[in-house]
Amino acid sequence: MNTPFLAGNWKMNLDRRAALELVEALAGRVGERRDVDVAVFPPFVYLDEISRALMGSPIRVGAQNCCDEESGAFTGEVAASMLADVGAELVLIGHSERRHVYGEGDELICRKVHTALGAGLDVILCVGETIDERESGRTEQVVATQLRAGLEGIAEGDMARVTIAYEPVWAIGTGHTATAAQAGEVHAYLRGLLEGLYSESVAAATRIQYGGSVKADNVAELMAVTDVDGALVGGASLKPESFLPIIEFQG
Ligand code: PEP
Repeated sequence: MNTPFLAGNWKMNLDRRAALELVEALAGRVGERRDVDVAVFPPFVYLDEISRALMGSPIRVGAQNCCDEESGAFTGEVAASMLADVGAELVLIGHSERRHVYGEGDELICRKVHTALGAGLDVILCVGETIDERESGRTEQVVATQLRAGLEGIAEGDMARVTIAYEPVWAIGTGHTATAAQAGEVHAYLRGLLEGLYSESVAAATRIQYGGSVKADNVAELMAVTDVDGALVGGASLKPESFLPIIEFQG
């Protein structure tokens, strides 16, 4: 069994003070639980300060996005190497809001995965279907395309630095969590794809998080599902009182 990986994606929320208060509250408790991995994903502008605040804590800090290019004339973009420079160790790539609000496609997402790994960042690659895609029976086809395309050219040796997050778009921020059965089916399918793309050992060792309206009252059920190795949490990661019970779920 893989060590559960619980990550909080803050999106474009919290101000500096609230962000610092949140990580102070988390840091005070996370050290007590050594059988889970925890990461937070603040907005870019707080990464430096949050990384410093968490120095010495087991909580890792990640960015919510990065540029596919290494440097140059890309106004408004942030390079993966800059994220590493301010203490980020991970980056979310292909989040559904990047795909569906900002129109990021699989080729761009794959370039970002390469650039991030090249800069020394670990990657959480997000995949997931829309409600229309699910209702028309295309869930597997959609997540397979996103997974294969996102990992195109990524060597087996780099897969230890990649986590997959299955985030059905219809479950993100909606309160409609996937059932344990729905999550289990897609996670097992993704693991099978990883085995085909790489090997049985890579498939077994790659952590696959579930994301989509994870809360204190559903985390234990989801984490009990075979092939669910963690959770990527949005709304419920913004306050200690809602994120700590997720981190401290009883398996
Ligand atoms: C997310 O932002 O990745 C997410 C899963 O959000 P929420 O938990 O709010 O559904």
